[in-house]
Amino acid sequence: MTAKVIDGKEFAANVRAQVQVQVAKLREEHGIKPGLAVVLVGEDPASQVYVRNKHASTVEVGMASFEHRLPADTGEADLLALVESLNADPKVHGILVQLPLPAHLNSDLIINTIDPAKDVDGFHISNVGLLGTGQKSMVPCTPLGCLMMLRDHHGKLAGLNAVVVGRSNIVGKPMAQLLLGDSCTVTIAHSRTKDLQAVCRGADILVAAVGRPEMITGDFVKPGATVIDVGINRIERDGKAKLVGDVHYASAAAVAGAITPVPGGVGPMTIACLLANTLTACCRANGLPEPEGLTA
Ligand code: NDP
Repeated sequence: MTAKVIDGKEFAANVRAQVQVQVAKLREEHGIKPGLAVVLVGEDPASQVYVRNKHASTVEVGMASFEHRLPADTGEADLLALVESLNADPKVHGILVQLPLPAHLNSDLIINTIDPAKDVDGFHISNVGLLGTGQKSMVPCTPLGCLMMLRDHHGKLAGLNAVVVGRSNIVGKPMAQLLLGDSCTVTIAHSRTKDLQAVCRGADILVAAVGRPEMITGDFVKPGATVIDVGINRIERDGKAKLVGDVHYASAAAVAGAITPVPGGVGPMTIACLLANTLTACCRANGLPEPEGLTA
């Protein structure tokens, strides 16, 4: 069997196009322009690239982009004051504080100071609780992107066995909650799971969010399963820098029914879902109906 490739790049372009249409409609019909504020503290090179890409994508869909770049030695009080001012700013509908923050800053405190209604990363403790209890929330972007692709591929997910490898707060746990919300039978695996291979082989949907290059090989995949590879790992092979996922693509694709590649799978969906969340936050803030198909 050769797996169908789930093209995240194309899917993300489609989500961005839908957001762009809705943004234009908001402006024409209500005179509202959704705005996203991104806060970057320090000069972490990967974070700088992410923030640049977020800014470009935000502007491209017609939203306002507010960038706040602060020096690495910014004090906690100053950062909290900035977050509070963004909470109060009616032009800002979404706030994202780029993680990781420098070690002297308390990330939990900063994130939990964001107005939950503007928390487009979905990391605020209120949003975590709302998602966990099946209530309307802001949903973390990467798992939301995975859910959208899974719904598109499968239609209904109810009754499918889903295994999520990884239990982080930003990917593994919210992914599992979303799959549970769609009535999958969900298993969360992690570094202490016994016989991971056997656990994974029971999955109709296998989500890998481990952070270990190519760890999930074809032997972990049930024939015909859908494999979602969240991993982004920079490795060196044959003297060249290469981006690989947590899934060994060639062996897994030989067994799976469908699979996301790396790059070009989950990655592009993350920013697309950030834009979708900003649009959702803007609609909610203005008492307007939420855009269909762009939320959980
Ligand atoms: P974390 O390091 O926070 O979590 C990794 C998880 O994998 C942990 O729960 C850990 O278990 C588990 N794990 C580690 N080793 C093993 C093992 N040998 N067997 C089973 N489970 C294991 O990572 P993140 O969730 O933040 O990210 C996961 C991957 O996703 C990374 O490659 C990251 O770069 C990528 N990522 C991609 C994004 C995108 O936009 N596409 C966005 C965010 C992340 P334990 O808890 O027991 O330690």
